Amino acid sequence: MTNYTAQLYIVATPIGNRADFSMRAIETLKNVDVIACEDSRTSANLLEHYGITTKLVSYHKFNEKQRTNELLKLLKEGKKIALISDAGTPCISDPGRVLVNELFGNVGITSIPGACAVITFLSMIPRNTEEFAFAGFLPRVKNQQSKVFEKFSNIDTVFYESPNRLLETLENIREFRGDSAKVALARELTKMFEEVKAGSVSEIIDYYKTNPLKGEIVCMLYARENNNEDDMEIVEKIKKLKAVNFSDKDIATVLCTLYGFNKNKVYKLALAL
Ligand code: SAM
Repeated sequence: MTNYTAQLYIVATPIGNRADFSMRAIETLKNVDVIACEDSRTSANLLEHYGITTKLVSYHKFNEKQRTNELLKLLKEGKKIALISDAGTPCISDPGRVLVNELFGNVGITSIPGACAVITFLSMIPRNTEEFAFAGFLPRVKNQQSKVFEKFSNIDTVFYESPNRLLETLENIREFRGDSAKVALARELTKMFEEVKAGSVSEIIDYYKTNPLKGEIVCMLYARENNNEDDMEIVEKIKKLKAVNFSDKDIATVLCTLYGFNKNKVYKLALAL
């Protein structure tokens, strides 16, 4: 526990491969007074494996507020507390935000970094930029999902998805962005059946229609590419709107708002038609 002024330790745990547990994480968990964990049965296995016998208390999305008050009391008594989730980094699509938001500035907080599915994934797929957006778990309702894709259409967008919903989500991407939208996907990172794929959304759909789609999944929808194919898609949409008498200016506003296309570019294409 190298940060001697910290009282609350946010500790990352492995996302599959137990060997990805850092020495500092293990040392910290052995030395704090209490470990707040999402599911004590899940954590008990891992902790037992590393000989960590520290007392566990539950901290999950249904008791975050109440537990935060209780943990604050312990911290005021001088106790040191660690927060872990079932896997990966707490607060990243996992419980912990209430605790950090409430206690930040009042107690010493530090993070013991380690596995995180988003970052592991980003480090192993082809990309041309540093920029990305992280959407966590996507909404389940189709038009709400489309709103997320719309909002982030100009930036690579990573999201977590369950194997049961992935094909539906990919179909939604195809409907929204077309056959050639580019996606990348990783399954079972750090585990025995780790798999990573990148390609057009149609290629990935075809692949998973005939190959097993199980386990934990992280996915990315690449930003729209500013290429001729994109221009053709815009032109098609402009033609449809012109056919129902939209003005060039309104067409630019509509396509920019709905699909994130560059407004000036749409306007210029509309003028030229
Ligand atoms: N806090 C975790 C982190 O740091 O990545 C994420 C927790 S979230 C509740 C769980 C989701 O993360 C899974 O449903 C899956 O989408 C993704 N995930 C976790 N472990 C993974 C793995 N080994 N391979 C691929 N995706 C994973």
